[in-house]
Amino acid sequence: MSAQEWLCGGLRWRVGNEDKVRIWGDRWVPSVQGFFVQSAPMGLPVDSKVSELIDPQTEQWDSALIESCLPTAMAQAILQIPVRGMDEADKLIWAESSNNKYEVRDGYRRWLEEFNRTHDYQPVGEARVWSSIWKMNVPPKVRHFMWRFARNSLATCDKISAKSERRGDACPFCNLREAQVHLFGECGWSGRIWRNSNLSQWFELREDEDCLIWTRNVLDKATTTEFEDWAVLLWSLWKERNAHLFNGTKAPEEEILMRAATYADEYRQYQGDETMLPA
Ligand SMILES: [Zn+2]
Repeated sequence: MSAQEWLCGGLRWRVGNEDKVRIWGDRWVPSVQGFFVQSAPMGLPVDSKVSELIDPQTEQWDSALIESCLPTAMAQAILQIPVRGMDEADKLIWAESSNNKYEVRDGYRRWLEEFNRTHDYQPVGEARVWSSIWKMNVPPKVRHFMWRFARNSLATCDKISAKSERRGDACPFCNLREAQVHLFGECGWSGRIWRNSNLSQWFELREDEDCLIWTRNVLDKATTTEFEDWAVLLWSLWKERNAHLFNGTKAPEEEILMRAATYADEYRQYQGDETMLPA
């Protein structure tokens, strides 16, 4: 049985009146392969529940919300699902595999997978990383940035050059290959900034080529505020890197550090009111 066939069948959620089912990560959309919502979380926190997509007044899908946070095809697939009555619980059901073949061994494996998920056994504490990122008291754009950072999915030059021949993979600061860990950890430019900051101990926890493990390592040791300060500095480095790469500007390193620290502090001070912050 191929991975694709395996994903086509098995257990999925039938959404009822509870809030057990997550929009992203759970299997609940009958008409798509694997039953997963296959798009990055947009506009809503990553751990949002399907129940949030239902308008409590009309007890129907909130189509404006669904269309604003999901790609069109996925939104259409969801809007076709009938909303179940108020007396039905969220329920795991057997869904037909595409080739109608069901093997006991695979069924058991899927059941175990679903069981492990609902009981939150995560191999590298990933669930905790995502929920900590979405709970950070920082501007939403910093949370979105951290989500992409921890997924190792920022558009660094190594990734761009793999897709397009128009741009090389050189780091704009030192000409070595610009992978994520290089830019934020191994580059002489970012290294100097970290060493001059009061966050250098978190810089030491980086791992080769994997920013998810780096994030988890910091999360294990840092306080909430330290974790937020670390995220804001990473985001500031990314912003500076983009300004340097695309506009040719280069801010003094002490200034980057000072701006990041002020930004994190002021956001907490203004209770998350972004309009009070410098752009
Ligand atoms: Zn570099």
